[in-house]
Amino acid sequence: MDFQYAPAPESRAVVDIRPSYGLFIGGEFVDGHGEPFKSIDPSNEEPLAEIACADAADVDRAVAAARAAYDGVWGTMPGRERAKYLYRIARIVQERSRELAVLESIDNGKPIRESRDVDLPLVAAHFFYYAGWADKLGHAGFGPDPRPLGVAGQVIPWNFPLLMLAWKIAPALACGNTVVLKPAETTPLTALAFAEICRQADLPPGVVNIVTGAGDTGRALVEHDGVDKVAFTGSTEVGRQIARAVAGTRKKLTLELGGKAANVIFEDAALDQAVEGVVNGIFFNQGHVCCAGSRLLVQESVADELLDRLKRRMTTLRVGDPLDKNTDVGAINSAEQLAKIRALSEIGEREGATRWSPPCELPQRGFWFVPTVFTGVAQSHRIAREEIFGPVLSVLTFRTPAEAVEKANNTPYGLSAGVWTEKGSRILWMAERLRAGVVWANTFNKFDPASPFGGYKESGFGREGGRHGLEAYLNV
Ligand code: NAP
Ligand code: MG
Repeated sequence: MDFQYAPAPESRAVVDIRPSYGLFIGGEFVDGHGEPFKSIDPSNEEPLAEIACADAADVDRAVAAARAAYDGVWGTMPGRERAKYLYRIARIVQERSRELAVLESIDNGKPIRESRDVDLPLVAAHFFYYAGWADKLGHAGFGPDPRPLGVAGQVIPWNFPLLMLAWKIAPALACGNTVVLKPAETTPLTALAFAEICRQADLPPGVVNIVTGAGDTGRALVEHDGVDKVAFTGSTEVGRQIARAVAGTRKKLTLELGGKAANVIFEDAALDQAVEGVVNGIFFNQGHVCCAGSRLLVQESVADELLDRLKRRMTTLRVGDPLDKNTDVGAINSAEQLAKIRALSEIGEREGATRWSPPCELPQRGFWFVPTVFTGVAQSHRIAREEIFGPVLSVLTFRTPAEAVEKANNTPYGLSAGVWTEKGSRILWMAERLRAGVVWANTFNKFDPASPFGGYKESGFGREGGRHGLEAYLNV
């Protein structure tokens, strides 16, 4: 008989979800004028809470609150004073990290192992990191006294709800801007918990405002005249719409969009290590990762061996309850996203690629997709070109380094890439040629607040993280 993992559920008792939530404007929770909506738990489709929806008038109120806070306190406060608030927020995030991790897993569907060990530590690290910059902006390389921009309108997606909030809010506040942020419709709860943290930290009212709602709320925010800076993370399609809306205005814009990253494995790579990197590259966060290693490029001489090992490893992945500490792959975030993953996978089969998944029992309710690998994929296949944003890997092969570069760069995107080889010289040779904002060597999906992140081509422009991330929020 096989050994089985006993259930190891994390307790939900640490979170206290209210039946309904308002918008967070000027330091208060207020009603919205749009039609309220429900956020659900994607692992069982149970409603979690009713969420207020901001219409254009509510967005206007939020922008006015942010403007008043900018003019009244935040824009003129010395950096060393702003830093104290950011350090305080970082510490409260750490203190409440178990609660926030559970809340994130419930609202988003991601495994607790990841929200606890990846998302939350990085959220706190971002606030600590940018707190450190707040009183040193004059030494960041943007002149002796760089000024903030004013009010930032920020729109974020559902795949890393609290982490994307941290990427947006921490540098904005460190530089002296105030913000209005719109979380995604399916994952608003941790942003609303963050609103409470702002109150707990005594952040002056209006410095952070959270407007919940769907695409229309986001559009009202990015098109608002009172916004000086727009920061967006999400799909390339919506990114294009936003670029059009902002063109010709004085607003500064950064876009962090989709990706179709190549994870390139050479024959001299440590194959077991590479298999772990492939698994982390595409099955981390159910593959809902803009920089996911969704195209595996493996050198022909080791392709069969690598695929055997990969398939063996995939049979050990545990799919199921996001709150079980043994779970590797959680729930797909929404019915819409599941439909998109299914549709593209069916297209992959129809186009002639070979589909494989390990045997796996999925829960009855909720949104689930078994980790899947496609072999025999051609560069022209849609599963090799389009972002699936799910746990689906497309495998292609190559013979020479030049061919690997050619194939890796054959994409409209350019967010990230991975290289697996024993040779340092080959890593550098590849990194010089890969058209991607981040190139990981013998690792994948590693993030650090000190390291800039962002895209080439249709993956967007501007950088988040590091010293580079300050530039987007300063008048330079
Ligand atoms: P999306 O539509 O681009 O959503 C991103 C954010 O923009 C959400 O907060 C969304 O609101 C908001 N939004 C939608 N339309 C808007 C508009 N016209 N103006 C301003 N804001 C707007 O992405 P999605 O629908 O969640 O996912 C679709 C695909 O995008 C995915 O399948 C994936 O391929 C890609 N994606 C990429 C990333 C990334 O990190 N690069 C993240 C998520 C998704 P609501 O969601 O509340 O409607
Ligand atoms: Mg939800």
